[in-house]
Amino acid sequence: MKFGGTSVATLDRIRRAAKRVGVEVAKGHDVIVIVSAMSGKTNELVGWVGETSPLYDAREYDAVVSSGENVTAGLMALTLQEMDVPARSWQGWQVPLRTTSAHSAARIEEIPTDNISAKFAEGMKVAVVAGFQGVSAEGRITTLGRGGSDTTAVAFAAAFEAERCDIYTDVDGVYTTDPRVSPKARKLDRIAFEEMLELASLGAKVLQTRSVELAMRYSVRLRVLSSFEEQSDDAGTLVCAEEDIVESNVVAGVAYSRDEAKMTLVSVADRPGIAATIFSALSDAGVNVDMIVQNISEEGRTDMTFSCPTDQVARAEAAMAEANGNIINFAELIADTDVAKVSVVGIGMRSHTGVAAKMFQCLSNEGINIKVITTSEIKISVLIDRKYMELAVQALHDAFELDKAA
Ligand code: ADP
Ligand code: ASP
Ligand code: MG
Repeated sequence: MKFGGTSVATLDRIRRAAKRVGVEVAKGHDVIVIVSAMSGKTNELVGWVGETSPLYDAREYDAVVSSGENVTAGLMALTLQEMDVPARSWQGWQVPLRTTSAHSAARIEEIPTDNISAKFAEGMKVAVVAGFQGVSAEGRITTLGRGGSDTTAVAFAAAFEAERCDIYTDVDGVYTTDPRVSPKARKLDRIAFEEMLELASLGAKVLQTRSVELAMRYSVRLRVLSSFEEQSDDAGTLVCAEEDIVESNVVAGVAYSRDEAKMTLVSVADRPGIAATIFSALSDAGVNVDMIVQNISEEGRTDMTFSCPTDQVARAEAAMAEANGNIINFAELIADTDVAKVSVVGIGMRSHTGVAAKMFQCLSNEGINIKVITTSEIKISVLIDRKYMELAVQALHDAFELDKAA
């Protein structure tokens, strides 16, 4: 059972979450509870790090930013003890949840189960584990990237071969789009791993992308549900294999991401090797390039456009400035940070044509200009002016009639 930030935001909510855990214990289950930091806490900690040291040491960033989860893990264990449920807390390093050394974006390598299993054997009923954090081979504290407690939860479920992995959050499941953006968003009873993976990676933050990957790989029975409502055993949304979904719309959902920047290299030489040079330099600088477009070429020159997360713009600019001197030789780099990405996702696209045409027509009807397009087998993404983001999400939701079940 994983409880997100809003579900442990106050002592009262921790008590409410603990009661839900108590219900499962009463049914005879041993429970591993993964907790996030109280809502807002991680943002505050990230802010403090940036204020103290703009070009911070990532190892110390992790030491600070991981601490919010230590507080809620201890408080959850204490709350359970007050309810006479035998419980204790673990920080990541105590498990030890071993990760790579990629600070602030570490990947889980190993979760030994002996330590916690031994306590269950002694009569402990609930192991409360601080989410989001682990320890590197160098013995330093690491974090798994924002939203990483979801991944902690799925990884524990896989390691302990849990019956279920329930993600308790502030919405009662996965919706056709963010219910905070579209009032017509509809809760899905089931969604396929592949669709959830795309939605998450395209911005739907209800689950961290990596958690969906792990659930798919280890066949974890993954469910998203509300910590604010009384829940039956089939409440929320089940994230499951494609075969387990009887009927679905061609488009399953709409996702958005505000955190995009459009970068244009103006007038680069149009000859073999240029794209390789540009994108190698960006990759070496750790820039995550998403969309790429090469524009019309005139007189042997072309414009190259790519998108990357807004917080990587400075890094991309530095990498391009450095590379410009030797081979690439562009006239100008224009960074447009007032853009957003809106995507439609659905496994039905594999077998249905016309989704792109419908999407572009819908945006055109709203007078929204498309700046960049990318597609894959089960998604279409466009980059648009950020001020139209909500409008685009709502219009696409209407156009694909996502408020109605298949
Ligand atoms: P937690 O703190 O519990 O981890 P998050 O804020 O990380 O919660 O994720 C839940 C939020 O995800 C919801 O409040 C909702 O605004 C947002 N969200 C975005 N897309 C979707 C979607 N398709 N379905 C449900 N929630 C979504
Ligand atoms: N507290 C961390 C964050 O806000 C991890 C999580 O909540 O999943 O990103
Ligand atoms: Mg989250």
